[in-house]
Amino acid sequence: SRGLVWFRRDLRAHDHPALHHALRECSEVHCVFVFDEDILSRLPRADRRVLFIHESLLELDQALRTLAQDAHVGLIVLHASARTAVPELAHRLGAQAVYAGRDDEPGALERDAYVRTALAQHGRELRLFKDHTVFERSELLTQAASPYTVFTPYKKAWLREIDGYFLASYAVAGGQGNLAPCPPWAQEGVPSLAAIGFGPSAELALKVPSGTSGGQVLWQDFTARIDTYDRARDFPAVKGPSYLGVHLRFGTLSIRELARDAYKRMRAGSQGAATWLSELIWRDFYLQLMAHFPHAMERSFKPAYDAIAWETGAQAEALWVAWCTGRTGFPLVDAAMEQLHQTGYMHNRLRMVVASFLVKDLGLDWRRGEAHFAEWLNDYELASNNGGWQWASSSGCDAQPWFRIFNPVTQSLKFDPQGRFLRRYLPQLAALSEKHIHAPWAAPADALQAAGVVLGENYPLPIVDHAQARERTLARYAVVKEQA
Ligand code: FAD
Repeated sequence: SRGLVWFRRDLRAHDHPALHHALRECSEVHCVFVFDEDILSRLPRADRRVLFIHESLLELDQALRTLAQDAHVGLIVLHASARTAVPELAHRLGAQAVYAGRDDEPGALERDAYVRTALAQHGRELRLFKDHTVFERSELLTQAASPYTVFTPYKKAWLREIDGYFLASYAVAGGQGNLAPCPPWAQEGVPSLAAIGFGPSAELALKVPSGTSGGQVLWQDFTARIDTYDRARDFPAVKGPSYLGVHLRFGTLSIRELARDAYKRMRAGSQGAATWLSELIWRDFYLQLMAHFPHAMERSFKPAYDAIAWETGAQAEALWVAWCTGRTGFPLVDAAMEQLHQTGYMHNRLRMVVASFLVKDLGLDWRRGEAHFAEWLNDYELASNNGGWQWASSSGCDAQPWFRIFNPVTQSLKFDPQGRFLRRYLPQLAALSEKHIHAPWAAPADALQAAGVVLGENYPLPIVDHAQARERTLARYAVVKEQA
């Protein structure tokens, strides 16, 4: 029998449930990746994620050929609308089933339902396997058999239920003899970026190593410092986190192998590994929430928060542009936005700071910030991004209480006390002392002059007064109290 493995967010040739099952169930297995026009057409023509995928596919294509020990067993790569191209390809290959990793994003569910129906018309099957998470959907439920909406009990359940079964690898080796050569009519190998309508861009160069090999380099580097993750992770000037988000997003590494290793280290007493594993559990938590509460991908998780009236009009638009372009006059916010635009990455502490600032200092709708992150983050993950933004706007499950409002200057003093991160991304402020760099508008004129800072010229004056903004936010959120 023939099978077709459809690679999506699982761009690796090891520990791969879809490939594992296909190789065991079919005597001839073909592999495809589709540069999906339905997704690509919405992106700007230079995008770091497309670059990441492209580089990772070159490696995957090679890995499949090496695995099969046959130079003709590569990926079939299409550039089309996946919903029609995949059933057509399955038909042409005579594949009885298409194998893929499950994806619970609303758009992916809709696409997969379409593909399933199209395949079924010819008696073919779409077989989906859990791959992106350790626990998914309803695998962990409360005693009342409902989904968890609070993280701490979810984490307890996760740690209680975890065992070798959930962390086991899906071996690919052993069945590789069933990988079939590309048919002569198929587009074999990875087309150039230009062929799919994208260009490389010096400005948007990928600053993170791609493919499984790139993920392994980052993982090796991180394991040398994982034990101090709990202490280092909150300081953006320090190399504390793993930078693996993009590899988890596109599945160049397997979540099981990372969770398994972190779990082992935690059991051996590493507090850093325990905290890091907890972050992977947050990821599972948000992904299961998305599966159960898809409405929250567009509206507030807690409906009472839909009553909030966000700022609109010309003044609000000016605030929005200042936030987007990193010209708010609050150095920590501006440096964070520079990091995002220059690298496609933003430190977790800073994601919280800039999100809180947009919503609670500027009074702008969290969905605008969510969309900006979706455009710029290499590791953009709908469930986690939405979860993070709803946490900051207090409209999510298990969110920050609405009356708790980050002070961007206090955050700066606490998490970048010497201003090292600020200096890296805001060179125009680099000569300010650590006393003045967090709030230049409060610095004496001679200190500004000595540092070459001219407020309103080479660095903006603050666009809001934090204390006044705080009062406006408390008033804005009063409507939630009334509704609740
Ligand atoms: P590490 O600190 O090394 O953590 C390891 C992994 O754990 C991450 O790669 C990620 O997969 C997971 N993780 C860590 N923190 C969280 C979290 N709070 N929620 C869910 N998973 C987590 N994460 C994304 O993966 N994609 C997003 O689009 C995203 N948007 C966010 C938006 C906002 C407003 C906020 C506050 C957080 C967001 N996060 C998002 C969560 C977190 O900031 C990133 O996962 C993390 O900064 C990625 O860097 P890292 O890989 O070095 O993380």
